[in-house]
Amino acid sequence: MVDNILKHFKDIVGSERATTDDAILLTYARDQQWPFVPPRKPDYIVRPTTTTEVQQVIRIANRHKIPVVPYAQGVNVRGLCIAEQGGIILDMRDMNQILEVNEDMMTAVIEPGVRTVDLAVACREKGLRPAIAGCPGVASAGANYMLRGLYHHMWKDGIEHVLGMEIVLPNGNLLHTGSWGFPNTLGPYCRYGIGPDMTGLFQNQPGTMGVFTKLATKLYPKHDIADWVVAGYDDISDLVKVIKELGKKDIGASCMGMHWLGYAMLFAGNIKDVFEFKDTMGEYVLWAVLEAETEEDIIAEEEKCEKIVRASNYVAGGEIFPIPEDIDNEFTYPRIVSQWFRLGNYYAVPFFAPIDMTKTYYEATMKLWLKHNLDPDLCGWFIAPMDYLHHGQAVYFEVETFYDSSDDEERENLKRFTDDFNKKMMEIGMFSWFRPNPGNMGLTLPGLGNYANLWKQIKDDIDPNDIMNPGKVFVI
Ligand SMILES: Cc1cc2nc3c(=O)[nH]c(=O)nc-3n(C[C@H](O)[C@H](O)[C@H](O)COP(=O)(O)OP(=O)(O)OC[C@H]3O[C@@H](n4cnc5c(N)ncnc54)[C@H](O)[C@@H]3O)c2cc1C
Repeated sequence: MVDNILKHFKDIVGSERATTDDAILLTYARDQQWPFVPPRKPDYIVRPTTTTEVQQVIRIANRHKIPVVPYAQGVNVRGLCIAEQGGIILDMRDMNQILEVNEDMMTAVIEPGVRTVDLAVACREKGLRPAIAGCPGVASAGANYMLRGLYHHMWKDGIEHVLGMEIVLPNGNLLHTGSWGFPNTLGPYCRYGIGPDMTGLFQNQPGTMGVFTKLATKLYPKHDIADWVVAGYDDISDLVKVIKELGKKDIGASCMGMHWLGYAMLFAGNIKDVFEFKDTMGEYVLWAVLEAETEEDIIAEEEKCEKIVRASNYVAGGEIFPIPEDIDNEFTYPRIVSQWFRLGNYYAVPFFAPIDMTKTYYEATMKLWLKHNLDPDLCGWFIAPMDYLHHGQAVYFEVETFYDSSDDEERENLKRFTDDFNKKMMEIGMFSWFRPNPGNMGLTLPGLGNYANLWKQIKDDIDPNDIMNPGKVFVI
């Protein structure tokens, strides 16, 4: 049967684009998250180039109940493209066309394999920019928007960038969401169609509801004049107060608060030893990003920002820190993340949470960190508001570290910390909202009651054979 199915796939995508070759399967078996998501070899790699091919592959998978794992660029750092139950990796890196950049509507239509960096370059030529997550430039822009990412250098954009999607459903049928679904219209010019928000139904899920083959995204004006304000704090409450104040007054394009380690890592490309930064600017650092059309506007924005910063108990040697010139690209274009791996493998657990509870989360985190014999100097964390803080309180809260994943003891300590941390965060009212990370879905779902029941019913209706990335949300 295996050979027969491979033959079908080869007939659909071409013999070079479907394989069961062990050497190739192995390259998809594990990712950087392997200590937490055990490696598992898929059974097939299929690399479609058109929507029709995706539909045909999905129909065969559905008929034979073979799991399908959509794969855009595979850099999600959460083990989300590991075929936990075997099956097909649907590698869409060659579906990489930017189908339209519409200056008038400020929208783009892209395929799933389009990298963030390529979209940014195509938009820049037209004086626009896409939403740029703090992820590597190779990450798929579409997969990031579908999952709703973290855009911490531009909180004013919010986290919702999708206007509509073309989706291959698990039965192989095609769905267009929002205004794209209407006949005889301009296409994806509006997020909402009639009735419920169909686009949202397919978002923030790791390939568990279908495969998007085209995605329409919002674009934003690109300002060439930008500046940053950085200040250090010894008390998290002071830092939080300033972030809230800036948000409420609409000052800046973005701002985030972080442990000094995170700030130092941003500069690690330039300096030899990140630990040189320790004690130079307080334990916690505020980073505010300002943008404007003119020099006068940026100066006015800086003055407003610094006034708020100076009114709080900032430290940092009595000065507001200037930002070195060469950090500009860090937040203007997709990030160069190689320096993040200087101290070892990158580990992070993310949540969305109310900003007012930052101190509670941090103190609980630190307690567990020490309990599991982890180095306190390497317990990084940051908070980044998801949007301006006018409505609600939501910030992204991430605990992060850099570690030697070949060291058995260090790895085991971190795994034990993660288990404890996930439980503790849920105990104090923080759910794994950012992405359905495999490790904590099993903990999250039982607490969700009818919310989870309805979600599961919808999933069962859309994917009755549970072929779409099984085990990633509704864990067995
Ligand atoms: C160092 C580092 C820093 C990062 N920082 C950030 C950050 O600040 N902000 C942020 O948002 N992200 C960040 N990321 C995470 C990552 O880059 C994003 O999650 C990324 O956008 C998704 O990865 P990808 O594009 O490779 O998609 P993949 O890894 O290929 O896929 C991600 C998930 O989406 C599903 N999927 C992919 N394509 C489709 C499709 N066509 N249809 C349906 N489902 C699909 C997959 O099955 C998988 O579950 C970071 C990653 C790294 C390595």
